[in-house]
Amino acid sequence: MSVPFEKVISRDWDKPAQSTLVGYKRSGGYKNLQKVLSLSPQQIIDEVKKSNLRGRGGAGFPTGVKWGFVPKDSPKPKYLCVNADESEPGTAKDRYILERDPHLLLEGIAIACWALGAHTCYIYARGEFKYPSSVLDRAIAEAYADGIFGRRLMDTPFALDVYQVRGAGAYICGEETALLESLEGKKGWPRLKPPFPAVVGLFGCPTVVNNVETIAALPRIFEKGAEWFAGLGTEKSGGTRLVTLSGSVNRPGTYEAPMQATVEEMIYSQEYGQGMPEGRKPKAVIPGGSSAPVLTASEIGVSLDFDAYRPLHSMAGSGGIIVIDDATCIVRALWRVTRFYAEESCGQCTPCREGQPWMTRLLRKIEEGHGQPGDLDTLMDVASAIAPWPPVGLGNTVCALGDAGALPVQSFVTKFREEFEQHISEQRCPYGDKPWGAFGDFK
Ligand code: SF4
Repeated sequence: MSVPFEKVISRDWDKPAQSTLVGYKRSGGYKNLQKVLSLSPQQIIDEVKKSNLRGRGGAGFPTGVKWGFVPKDSPKPKYLCVNADESEPGTAKDRYILERDPHLLLEGIAIACWALGAHTCYIYARGEFKYPSSVLDRAIAEAYADGIFGRRLMDTPFALDVYQVRGAGAYICGEETALLESLEGKKGWPRLKPPFPAVVGLFGCPTVVNNVETIAALPRIFEKGAEWFAGLGTEKSGGTRLVTLSGSVNRPGTYEAPMQATVEEMIYSQEYGQGMPEGRKPKAVIPGGSSAPVLTASEIGVSLDFDAYRPLHSMAGSGGIIVIDDATCIVRALWRVTRFYAEESCGQCTPCREGQPWMTRLLRKIEEGHGQPGDLDTLMDVASAIAPWPPVGLGNTVCALGDAGALPVQSFVTKFREEFEQHISEQRCPYGDKPWGAFGDFK
């Protein structure tokens, strides 16, 4: 790979005992926090803005700008919530931060809380994260025992309490306002925005919700400088990216890669995917977790940069790259994706509650050889009632799960229409009963 590259998040993952406080301190851990505590909150926010750090949970919103929305003069307590509810199909990166380097996240939390004036942080972890959560719990206990957290953050008069809360397995609780509802002990129903959580968040107080990878980048930014971090990336996206590679590749896994690396390099490079099995060729690639609109094989020269996907009507999302080979039925693949969002819709708003199952039924009908000529138009109509195509920001529903189900349908049908039409004209799946590969058998 021609791009100069330095690991940021996964740098110390292979060091012995890195997940413990002793191991983390041996790698220089918590020294940056000491340095940061001599800076004012505004200086920290300015540094984070300068670093071009963008949210790694899916939206890619600039972190420093988000922090700037928190009203400084509010008499209410402020909260930091870390979103560790990593549930997007194809994405498995935050769990490795929790497992391999939990103190990197905790040091980042302390930096963020100091900057925001937040004395309480909740880490909302996916319910299924039994092992990662146990490692994190141990790390939190170590930080309290060492006097890092508690009534005096690193011997300053600043109190900081950090709690981990486990979800109960609902994908929707990864949506930031559903996460807040769940933390308040209610059903995980997304809230209408505005007001945004920065102003009215947890318990009605100003709240910042950030992804695990986003917060874990902070100690490095203050170790090596905002310019260094910004310089690793592209003009508007600082740092590197953690990418989960799955589907039809020889070496699936979670890798840290430069922002400038392309999807194609992720598939073929010896450092990452090492090509595709049995000499297969890519037919399609989902670039940012299953909700990201699909790319065709001719579009995989796109880089991992958040802004690079926009002209292709797709998004970098949560960094989950799913490779679909030329032996895979595209209708079946989409049906699998759509069924997930139909299952996970919270049911609060009609286009999503009714539309996701409707699209799933139509796709099943087409795949099983019963499709009618008008079905593709109906499919696109139902999807467009949820979110416009091409995507223009948020769609017609309370939260982005609506878009997450609709945009894949619109992109697959637009980019692979011939394959859908072939299913309908031949009244069968041209791929027959071949194994489902990366998409599993769910019938
Ligand atoms: Fe619930 Fe779907 Fe509406 Fe989101 S878009 S609030 S998941 S019904």
